[in-house]
Amino acid sequence: MRVSLRISLKPVCPELVEGCLLSTLARTSSRLPRIEMLSYRHAFHAGNFADVLKHSVLTLVLDYMTRKEKGFHYIDSHSGAGMYQLNDDYAQKTGEYRNGIAKLVGEPNLPVALQPYIELINQLNGNAELDIYPGSPGIAKAFMRRQDSTHLFELHPTDIEHLTDFCYRWKKCFVKQSDGYQGVLGLLPPPSRRGVVLIDPPYELKEDYQKAVTTIIKAYKKFATGTYILWYPVVQRSRVDEMQNNFTKSDVKNVLQLEFCLSEDSEEYGMTGTGLFIVNPPWQLAQQMSEALPYLKEKLGSDETHFTVKQLVIE
Ligand code: SAM
Repeated sequence: MRVSLRISLKPVCPELVEGCLLSTLARTSSRLPRIEMLSYRHAFHAGNFADVLKHSVLTLVLDYMTRKEKGFHYIDSHSGAGMYQLNDDYAQKTGEYRNGIAKLVGEPNLPVALQPYIELINQLNGNAELDIYPGSPGIAKAFMRRQDSTHLFELHPTDIEHLTDFCYRWKKCFVKQSDGYQGVLGLLPPPSRRGVVLIDPPYELKEDYQKAVTTIIKAYKKFATGTYILWYPVVQRSRVDEMQNNFTKSDVKNVLQLEFCLSEDSEEYGMTGTGLFIVNPPWQLAQQMSEALPYLKEKLGSDETHFTVKQLVIE
């Protein structure tokens, strides 16, 4: 793996903010349109089992893209703060990382597919005790080269500040406090004709389930050879079914679906599992994750835990 660490760390999330309050971006700048948003903070969830799936796949995809000398674009529609500290009040409040990344670092016999991801976490922590955890921009920063460009979108007024600080001095990285769905479409096709797009909404708004897939369908029309990674939670099975249907009846080809569920689907509130749709995945990804998922079940799961690796739409 060729991960170079060019990461400047800033203390993130100094104050504890409870989730689910309404905030208005217009409060931070009178020039911004008034966009009402819920105050999801990824700091509460950093390093949880869903991040493990998403970030291990993102690592494999970016590793694959950097095997060719030619530059590429990385576009992250919902970036979050960039980097997290697991010892802060947020992560400590939920403790979600304890059944995620904390169960994997220091493990001796990791499957090959998880090694680049865990190696990156170890490097960030100076091979010392786990504290620093990268968000998707933190992972991208470790891979992006001089010839690559990064575009990050984030709406939350506090996280955009952390993200901007985190990206300080990162050349060819462009951070915008604007809607990531529109942002993605505005950047495609990239001049390099090589690109990875991560769409990782908080799903606080039910419309995200449809909007995320629709954005990929529209993006695919503009740039059919790009790699798109869409993260989703398994909270209500019908929402996932709907996303699958929207893909299968669209023109989008070559969609891999990965899913990792800690427990059986439930009508009760809460995330029982997590998944990814990956359009145009690297050719070995399905095989790599078929080897990694049984290991994740053993380390993070129970008898109820199940996973799937499915070619949802053929090439
Ligand atoms: N991708 C990040 C990672 O893997 O580390 C985590 C992102 S978190 C799940 C979702 C983020 O999207 C939140 O920080 C939230 O403020 C932001 N957000 C919500 N709606 C958005 C929108 N329409 N455009 C851009 N960002 C948005």
